[in-house]
Amino acid sequence: MNKIKVLAPDQAQKIAAGEVIERPAHVVKELIENALDAQATQISLYIEKAGKQLIRIVDNGCGMSADDAHLCFLPHATSKLTSIQELETVSSFGFRGEALASISAISKVTLITRQVDAPSGLLIQYTEGEVQEEKEVACNVGTDLAIADLFYNIPVRRKFLKHDDTEWNQIQTLVYAVCISNLSLAFKLFHDGKLILNAPPAASIKDRLCQIWDFNFAQHMIPLPAPTQTLDWLSVTGFISNHHFWRYGKNNIFFFVNNRWIKNSELSKALLKGYYNVLPPGKYPAAFITITVDKTLVDINCHPKKEEVRFIKPASVETQITTIVKQALEQNLSQKLSQHTPLPQHQEPQATVTLPQTITPIPTQQVTRVHHQPYNPPISEPEPTSFSWLPPLPITPLKQSTCTIEQQQATPVDNQTALRGSIIGQLFNTYIMIDNDNELLMIDQHAAHERILYEKLIKNFENKEGTQLLFPEIVSLSREQLAALVVEKTFFSHQGLELEQISSTEIIIKTAPPQLYNTSLKEFFAEVVAFIEEHELLDRELFRKKLNEHVHSHMACKAAIKAGDVLTHEQMHNLVQNLQQTEKRFICIHGRPTMWSVSKEEIEKHFRRR
Ligand code: ADP
Ligand code: MG
Repeated sequence: MNKIKVLAPDQAQKIAAGEVIERPAHVVKELIENALDAQATQISLYIEKAGKQLIRIVDNGCGMSADDAHLCFLPHATSKLTSIQELETVSSFGFRGEALASISAISKVTLITRQVDAPSGLLIQYTEGEVQEEKEVACNVGTDLAIADLFYNIPVRRKFLKHDDTEWNQIQTLVYAVCISNLSLAFKLFHDGKLILNAPPAASIKDRLCQIWDFNFAQHMIPLPAPTQTLDWLSVTGFISNHHFWRYGKNNIFFFVNNRWIKNSELSKALLKGYYNVLPPGKYPAAFITITVDKTLVDINCHPKKEEVRFIKPASVETQITTIVKQALEQNLSQKLSQHTPLPQHQEPQATVTLPQTITPIPTQQVTRVHHQPYNPPISEPEPTSFSWLPPLPITPLKQSTCTIEQQQATPVDNQTALRGSIIGQLFNTYIMIDNDNELLMIDQHAAHERILYEKLIKNFENKEGTQLLFPEIVSLSREQLAALVVEKTFFSHQGLELEQISSTEIIIKTAPPQLYNTSLKEFFAEVVAFIEEHELLDRELFRKKLNEHVHSHMACKAAIKAGDVLTHEQMHNLVQNLQQTEKRFICIHGRPTMWSVSKEEIEKHFRRR
């Protein structure tokens, strides 16, 4: 090894610059932040050759005095922080006094600046750590900083720069983030002499999104609702895209923490978790999420480019995001479902038939399964007045308790509570198709019914009646399995399943709830026993909760109508209505989606009407 040498300050500065400035967008970020810290309300950004040739920013902020205009290029020269203690509560974007020192070490800088009470401005040309030229000039109040030939003196860095398009995209994304998090700012962005974005102050985030993207994009955005559980140290607000919108990448996902745009893959994951089952795999939403967090519970100084932050309680922040995103999507869809014009009553004369309130233990499959009934139009059918041009489905007269869909709400269709979209019909005897104004909504009849029954079962906790079985069933188990099952005897009896031990390896099942009439109880118990064995070691309370969910999801699945079951218009109507009243209407109990929609726009695009 050679002897240690101390680098000359200018060399050290060039190396240090690499940490803060790797690409043109990083320069732009630092300069915009300086303008915002200087209270600018108008910023114009002129970019040439994706910033490799020129980055010029003109602001109407407070400007600098002649002394500061010299000092600002020195390392650790800052007007924003004087002691480390202030770091915890700093609200300016800059605080380290590094940016201008770094930038001016690796580019050719021209600074023009004027404070409000100064008679004239000052121009300083600064290259290679030295003032090249300095003169008084006439100029507006504020600062005009031009950064030319970035990395001209570090060729290796220049080589690492990406293609112009990539570098330019980075700059654009950054500008969008700035505009979204600073609504009162007027921003103009030019590239190679062309005006790319003209964004005057915006009244709302939605307006901002219209300025940046377009009306159509903004139309897909829905606000995040107020959380059901509020935390005094954390608030999450913003807009996310609805279930119609997706992109191939994460470019339209923005997070702001205390008004700083940050990148955080954990937050993105939390967001995507909220979209689980809403978007197809490999597709991403747009999101503009503003997180306000107590300043003492976040570290903003953990990343050289201040692009990342660290939360003291990351899990709480992530959970809050997932929950709120889920809520927003659910609320949005349920609102849409209830926004539309009522179904014309005369389209379905049977709709006023009062459905049976009581459930008689008739196996559901026997009666709901009306497979492949040929279409047989009634002779004097009224002309459909809805926009649906498909022939109405065959209307089979409702028999006593033919359908379990009405179990939850066996009331006649009522305009107040009815689904307000227009049911088009059933597709493949599996999906209910709804003309839902600007979208075609498809509901998976089995998944939907399963969800309805499941929530009903869960709500009627410990309140299920079983019916005496004509032929009680005997189930054989190992001693251990039997012992584990018998411990839960009371739980099963509350589910309508009366069981009794008749030997050290056998139980007899005497009653069963209607949901299980059509299932093999032997199989059901074999399944439950496997579940118990798998989860036995869980905390008791959690175990009970899981067992409860498991048993009920099993019951719901067995009792639900199946794919392939023909439904009458009214049955479809009731199903959709009941689904609307469930809490988690978007996913079935196995985590599959219950509904899927195609927007009018997508359909029009497909037919090249757009
Ligand atoms: P920091 O922002 O961390 O303080 P910088 O190197 O970015 O460090 O800037 C150094 C100083 O130069 C700032 O603290 C500020 O006083 C001054 N300055 C930089 N840009 C501007 C601007 N656009 N308007 C007014 N003052 C500025
Ligand atoms: Mg700064």
